[in-house]
Amino acid sequence: MTGRTNLEGAVALVTGANGGIGRATVAALAQAGAQVVASDVADMATVPGAALYLPLDVTSEDAWQTVIERIERDFGRLDILVNNAGISVTNSIARTTLEEFRRCMAINVDSIFLGTHAAQALLARSGAEREGGSSIVNLSSVGGLRGAPFMATYCASKGAVKLYSKSAALEFALLKLPIRVNSVHPGGIETNMMDTIFARYVEEGLFADVETARAAVSAGHAMSRMGRPEEIAEGIAYLASPAASFMTGSELVIDGGMTAR
Ligand code: NAD
Repeated sequence: MTGRTNLEGAVALVTGANGGIGRATVAALAQAGAQVVASDVADMATVPGAALYLPLDVTSEDAWQTVIERIERDFGRLDILVNNAGISVTNSIARTTLEEFRRCMAINVDSIFLGTHAAQALLARSGAEREGGSSIVNLSSVGGLRGAPFMATYCASKGAVKLYSKSAALEFALLKLPIRVNSVHPGGIETNMMDTIFARYVEEGLFADVETARAAVSAGHAMSRMGRPEEIAEGIAYLASPAASFMTGSELVIDGGMTAR
């Protein structure tokens, strides 16, 4: 990897690293030269490319503290934080419980606050020594740009991620802290999350079977297909790099044209 997308010397933390987009992100950042700390609540034994594996439940303030302290002790810096961990909720409003709503908010939104809060000081110190500063990349969704039936809880959480990212970007810029903050908005990507969503669509009677659901979701993209995790990871690696040195408070939409129409 050469030029301004090079991440040599950078240290990155990726949450939800055992998932589809998480794995691809660990690989893309490592490929660009970063030392990557992979974290998840799930077992990560098979996530390739990571320099270190640390358990992290993103809803736990104590766990965030422990992980950031460990990264500072082992690497002395943190340049990139990818807040990727997330869950989907596919349910009617009538059947959604408060517990289900709050769990989604805890994993998808509390995580963004807790991670930013815990890592801010280390990111600021590291960013001061690095071209383009340090970078927080938050995974939102096309569901953070527009609503979707049976996805009100998920869309609310991803809308919150979008505006938290913009507000943090503005605050850090005002405070002259060298931390850029951007959100990424994938369309439908081939991971376990979409398989779960297809299964729920079928359970709700919205589609006859998973294949019909998959075909309908694919057709919702102008390019008539879903995306691959690697196609999201490339965008994340770009935002993390000095090539994106003038990008903060932005939304990087990677959706095969879904929201263009
Ligand atoms: P995935 O289900 O493959 O992976 C999600 C990962 O998050 C899993 O490894 C899981 O163990 C982890 N996780 C769940 N709860 C956690 C917790 N409390 N603490 C730490 N880790 C936890 O999903 P994915 O498709 O790779 O999604 C990654 C991100 O991208 C999510 O934020 C998701 O909302 C977003 N996204 C995905 C799609 C898509 O179509 N797949 C589209 C738009 C946005």
